This record gives sequence, structure tokens and C-alpha cells, in this order.
Amino acid sequence: VSFVDLKLAPPILKALTEAGYVTPTPIQAQAIPLALEGHDLMAGAQTGTGKTAAFALPMLQKLLPHASASTSPAKHPVRALILVPTRELAVQVEESVKAYAKHTNLRSLVVYGGVDIKTQTPHLKTGVEILVATPGRLLDHIEQKTVLLNQVQMLVLDEADRMLDMGFMPALKRILALLPRQRQSLMFSATFSNEIKKLSEDFMNYPTLIEV
Ligand code: AMP
Repeated sequence: VSFVDLKLAPPILKALTEAGYVTPTPIQAQAIPLALEGHDLMAGAQTGTGKTAAFALPMLQKLLPHASASTSPAKHPVRALILVPTRELAVQVEESVKAYAKHTNLRSLVVYGGVDIKTQTPHLKTGVEILVATPGRLLDHIEQKTVLLNQVQMLVLDEADRMLDMGFMPALKRILALLPRQRQSLMFSATFSNEIKKLSEDFMNYPTLIEV
């Protein structure tokens, strides 16, 4: 298969061509059609398999109808939330999202702990469709009411096993409780412990299992 066979929209295909991507990786070939059909997914994938594009490309495609050239923040509510365990991964994921979204009007932002929260708030206030965050810092923003999650239609948990290893389960539960129940959820994890399976049962809707 090619990215064209996966029926991705022209602005997304253009960005992929520019990035030098020709063929989808196995996780992309499996995940993208299922995600586009609206399924919840629980995917077993290590770093380096192309998992970022596996969730980011269908995400962009689903958000395209909401892309707006308007600079009004009201036109850019958070519609997709990507939770990751570390600052390094957060930065890397948001860079990839930005590159894939470069020919669309979709906006993204990354927020993580360890830096002054005040530097992130003005950027959040301008409105972004796609928010990449570490769980602790997202909770800080929720408490300070600098972010609203009531329009989130897609949730991604990336490296879910690492998030649990790092003790983020309570934070995740608090965040997930604030999201609309009507949404699509995608979970990526290198390992599937009982704890991960429990998490997926609690917050996903009959997820399709993908392993590469
Ligand atoms: P990831 O597993 O998401 O961290 O991706 C690993 C690396 O593979 C990144 O540098 C991506 O830019 C690159 N990559 C992802 N998908 C493709 C693809 N279909 N073709 C070529 N490179 C890719």
C-alpha cells in the first residue's frame, strides 16, 4: 500500500512527500484505515516503528473539516489531545504533528512541566486544535482554567506503559474524566500488562487490537 491508497487528503499527502515518506510502515498500514473508520485502537508498537504518524495522520484527516484560517481563539478549541510520558517525547511528537499539518490550518501546541507555566498560557489562549501534553502539566493548566477539554473528539495515549510506570495513573484518570464520552481513543504501548488492559477497558470503547 501507499499513502494515497490510505485515502489521506492532498494537504497531508503533500507534507508526507516533502518529508520523504513513500510507503507506510506496518503499524501505519494497519492503524490508519481503522482509525479513519472511527475505531478505538490499542496498538502494540515500539519507538521507531512510525507510531507517531500512525495516530497523527488519521487525527489530522479527521480534524480537517474544522481547520480554520481565522485567528479567533474561539475557532480553535482543543479537538485532539495527545498525552505522553516525558517532555522529550512531547516535543518530538509535536514537531512531527506540525510537520504533517504544515499545509493545513490546524494548529498544535506542546505543554510540559519543568518550565514556567505562565510562558505556555498565552499560547494556549490563542487556540489550538491539537494539544500535546505531559499529564502533570496538563492538570496544572486544567486547575488554572487555562485549557478547556470539552470539545476533545480524539484522545491518544502514547507510550501508555511508560506513563503508568511513571505513576501517572491518578493524573490520567482525572484528565480522562473531563473528556467528552463521545470521542475516539487510541492507545499505544510497547507492552501490554494487566494494568494497561484495565486502563484500556476503562476508557476505550471495544478497542481493536493491533500488534506489529
Ligand atoms: P516514530 O516511531 O513515530 O518515532 O518514527 C520513527 C522515525 O521514522 C521518525 O524519524 C519518522 O519521521 C520516520 N518515519 C515514520 N513513518 C515513516 C514512513 N512511512 N516512511 C519513512 N519514514 C518514516
